[in-house]
Formats: sequence, structure tokens, C-alpha cells
Amino acid sequence: MKVMLPDGTEKSVPAGTTPLAIAEGIGAGLARAAVAARVDGELRDLTRPLTVDCSLAIVTLRDEEALEVLRHSTAHATAQAVQELFPGTRIAQGPVIDDGFYYDFDREEPFTDKDLAAIEARVKEIRKRNLAIERLELPRDEAIRFFENEEEPYKVHFATTKGGETVTIYRQGEWTDFCLGPHLPSTGRLGVFKLLSVAGAYWLGDEKNKMLQRIYGTAFFDKQELKEHLALLEEARKRDHRKLGKELKLFSFHPEAPASPFFHPKGAGLYNRLVDYVRGLYQVYGYDEVITPQIFDSSLWKTSGHYEHYRDVMYFTEVDDREYAVKPMNCPSHCLIYGEGRHSYRQLPIRMADFGRLHRYELSGATAGLTRVRTFCQDDGHIFCTEDQVHDEVGNLTRMYLESYAVFGLDVRIFLSTRPEKKAGDDSLWDRSEAALKAALKTYGHPFTVNEGDGAFYGPKIDFIVRDALRREHQIGTIQLDYVLPERFGLKYIDADNSEKRPVMIHRAMLGSLERFIGLLIEHCGGAFPLWLAPEQARVLPITDRTMDYAEQLRTSMAAAGLRVTVDRRNEKIGAKIREAQLEKIPFMLVVGDKEAESGSITVRSRKDGDLGTSTLDEFIENAVANVAARRSE
Ligand SMILES: [Zn+2]
Ligand SMILES: [Zn+2]
Repeated sequence: MKVMLPDGTEKSVPAGTTPLAIAEGIGAGLARAAVAARVDGELRDLTRPLTVDCSLAIVTLRDEEALEVLRHSTAHATAQAVQELFPGTRIAQGPVIDDGFYYDFDREEPFTDKDLAAIEARVKEIRKRNLAIERLELPRDEAIRFFENEEEPYKVHFATTKGGETVTIYRQGEWTDFCLGPHLPSTGRLGVFKLLSVAGAYWLGDEKNKMLQRIYGTAFFDKQELKEHLALLEEARKRDHRKLGKELKLFSFHPEAPASPFFHPKGAGLYNRLVDYVRGLYQVYGYDEVITPQIFDSSLWKTSGHYEHYRDVMYFTEVDDREYAVKPMNCPSHCLIYGEGRHSYRQLPIRMADFGRLHRYELSGATAGLTRVRTFCQDDGHIFCTEDQVHDEVGNLTRMYLESYAVFGLDVRIFLSTRPEKKAGDDSLWDRSEAALKAALKTYGHPFTVNEGDGAFYGPKIDFIVRDALRREHQIGTIQLDYVLPERFGLKYIDADNSEKRPVMIHRAMLGSLERFIGLLIEHCGGAFPLWLAPEQARVLPITDRTMDYAEQLRTSMAAAGLRVTVDRRNEKIGAKIREAQLEKIPFMLVVGDKEAESGSITVRSRKDGDLGTSTLDEFIENAVANVAARRSE
């Protein structure tokens, strides 16, 4: 049997040789670092025998996928530990997720923190036992019987639905689990890990099913990496926007409107400033804002196709025997506006912006703080243009997006998704539009990744993924080409040769859902908003009642300069006033006592740098106003 290695050398080995044995043959160091194997591109166990000619790459500790194998194997060990410690617990599934893994269990009694500690200790013991992790192939019927005997109904489900004619199960010591693999060769290879939390999770994510208990954990090969990761998690916990949103009095939620945020004055101010910022960009980039209704006759959603494909997430109502739906998107409205009147090619592109409120029914299990809500607004817009204009439009959009993400201090990655197998429009149209998108992106020299076949059926798209201060990624911006909606709404323009043509429609949102973006922003800056966004930019802190009038004068002057300022009029010690302003993350504190009142000066403290010394009010205002105008991050 011939095995082709990544460096191009070919090895002749007897059939049945394992990748681990080949790694050992190459060197003891490689065998020690080996975690899994890639055989003809497929990730496999190191100990699974090779049977036919193939290409082989040894996956080592340094490869990203090694971490997934490690985390997945740690999930199994966690499940084994749970079943050893709590007999009668049923196991469901334990996949790898971003930064870790989870495992779902069916057990009546909830897991406590003490239980988690005990499970962790048991996993360490399993690691010490150094059990071989063996892969077994069983005919499906036999595997189903096996799990029926074990009284593992969830595993019966997977053996029935996930396996083929043969089903793989994995055994470590006395313990077995259904799994497709691959895993580490033995439990002794498990690295450092931490079980993090327990949460309820419906079986298969469906709220009609039984609620299971999900144990979350993470694992690394390297102790230092685990330590850094736990520190980031701790920081994320402190910055949780749900917690900060409450503390900073930005928003609240109420059972009367599930998963729908109520923005309090400070949160609403923040919201409106984001909208103002985007409006400012629209001024520069040539958009016209429109205002459209909230509720439409269902016929509109039938025309747009939402009724057929999207109705599960829409809210319906009946008035005057007509069925109406609340809008989940703005696109159909904009098509109606475009369709009003004739358009010459000379008038294109038409760029419409809309901050309309949208409603989408999200399953209660999927909603979380501002991240996933049932009502939100996007910085939504649609561009109607000719095919030739797609290149420039996408280029300008990209420039606007990159400019704005930089303002918020967010790093960005760009992905271009191309035609899927099932698609509208012919290949030559897709050829042209994909080429236009690529060319437009290249203009900016910003690297992008192509996701072949990931586009929507109605057109290719570009996704902008930003990375926040805690190195977490969020998809916020999109640019989506659409040939179908203009067709459905019969949209036209008159071309230079007087013929009627279809415009291309570009769906675009830069910050995406403003609710979600605010949640992201709160966590990105830990609630310490840059001056231009801060709900309260400065607070005047009079040391005694004698300086109250002076404090008020200062406030009036700063407000006149457009700054958001309050006076702390409470009868508290100055130390307490400073501490509270600091906790509320107010960018500047102006401390005024008799000395300042007499000389007409101020003593400035910044939340970041502490005491900045004495200055004049004019000087402070000038600096602050310039800082706001430049939208400086600090
Ligand atoms: Zn597995
Ligand atoms: Zn749209």
C-alpha cells in the first residue's frame, strides 16, 4: 500500500498500518505531537488503520484542528465522568463550539457548582487512567440495540439518524458513546481544561422537547493559553452588556414585550447618536432616507416571497377581514417606492435608506439581551442600479464600511460568497456580478476570503466580520446583490437605447441591527463609551453648596457648546461623587471648590487618566468639542 506524505515523498507500508505507526516511523517527536490524521483530506483517528493507497498528513498540536479534536475528546471524558459520578444520567450530545465544547445531559437534579468541581476532578482521574480511545464499527441495527440496552434514548436517535449502514461507536475503558469521531488516541493525551457553566438547553434546540442540562467547558494543550482564555472570559463576564446595560441605565426588558428592549434616556441617546452618525455618512455617500409603514397587507409578502419562505418569523394580524403582517424587512417597501414613476438610466443609482422598526419572531431559546431580539432597527438601505454600476457601488460601500469600523476601533475581515448550486439567473450574470464584486474589493487592497457556493440563491454577497476588544468575532455588515426581487416587483428603468431593463437591487446594512450593535459596542468598550457617544460626557462635582451656582454656570456654558453635562447636586463628600461618576464611566469630571469659583477655573479629572489639573472652561470646551468632532476613540 502506498501513502503519500505532504512533502511529496511516498511510503510503502503494509495494509492496516495506522497513521500513528507511520508518525512513529518518521520520528518520536512527531508521534508525541500527533493528535489526529488527515487521510485524503478527511480528519481521522491516529489509530484507525489505513486500508488503501492514500495521502496522509499528521495533524499536530500546532494545527488549529488539533484543538477541536482535543476539546471534543474532553467533552467525551466529561460525559464519562458524569455517568460514573451520577449513574442514571442520560447523555445526549457533546460538540465543539467556538472556544470550547459542551455536553448535554438528561438528569432530573440540576448540576451544582460543587458537582462541576467533582466532575472536573473525575475527568483528571480519567486522564490519569490513560484509557485507549477505540473506534468500533457496528451495523446500524446492532448499534441501535446496543444503545437501547444501555437505555440511552438520545444515542438511539443519533444511531438511527446520523449513521449510515454502519455506525461508529467509541469506547474508552468501560464507557462507550456514539460518535463520528475523530478523537485523541487515549485519555492520557487530554490537555488542560476547565468546566465553565451549566445552562438549560432543549433537546435538539426545540422548545417542544425536553429541557436538558448543558455543561460548558474549554480545553487547551497549553496551560498559559487556558489561563489567558479564562482571563478573557472573566473580562467578558464583567463587560456583559446585559449587566452593564442595567448598571449604566441604558435599557431594560419587560415580560409584557418579550425579547424587546426598552431604551431608557441614556440608551436612547446612544441609539440616536449612532443613527445621526450613519445619517452623516449618508449625506456624504448620496443616500435619500425614506419612511415606510409598519404593517402591510399579506399580498405584499406574497409578491416578495416572504410569505412563502419567511412566515414562521413574521407577526400577523387581521383587520377588516384582511390579513396583515408586520414588516420583518424593509426591502418590499423600497421596491414599491422605486416602482412609483419611471426611471431613466441617468437617474440611477437610487440609494434609499430606512431606519424603520422591524419585528421578527425569534424562538425564546434563541433570544439573548440585545444580541437577538424580536424588534430592532437596522441601518438598512437598498441601492437600485444598473449592472455596470455594481462595481462602483460596492466599492463605495466597502470604503464607507471600512471607514466606519475604524471609527469604532473594530478590526474587520471580509468574505465574498459566490453562487450556490440552486440559484436564480444564468451563469453569465453570476460571472459578471462575482467579477464586479471581486474587482471592487480589490480596489481597497483589503484582503478577503472567497466562500465558494455560500451566496444566496438570488445573488452573491459580501459579509463583514468585525473583531472586538475581547477578540470575539461578529458578523455585522452585509452587501447582498439581488436579481429576484426586482423581477418579482416588475421594476424597470429605461436604458440609453430606450429599451426597458431590470435594475439590480443591492441590500446593504453596515452596522446591522442597531440593538445588536449597541450590545457589541457596550462589551467592546466595557461601557466606557468614547466621548462622542457617551450619554453623559462630563459631570460637574461641586465640593460644597457654596459652589453650586458656579457649577450651574459651568453646566450652562458647556450645554451651549453642545456638550452633555450634569451637576451632581447631592449633599455627598467629593470622594463619593468622584467614585460614583467613575463607576458610571463618565469621561470627564469637573471638580469645583471655592478656589475654582474665585478664580473662574476648573479642575478636570478623566475617567481614564485621573487628575488632569486646573484649566479654564474655554480650554476644556475647545478640547472636548474637537474630540467629539473627530470621533476620537478616547
Ligand atoms: Zn466524539
Ligand atoms: Zn433588503
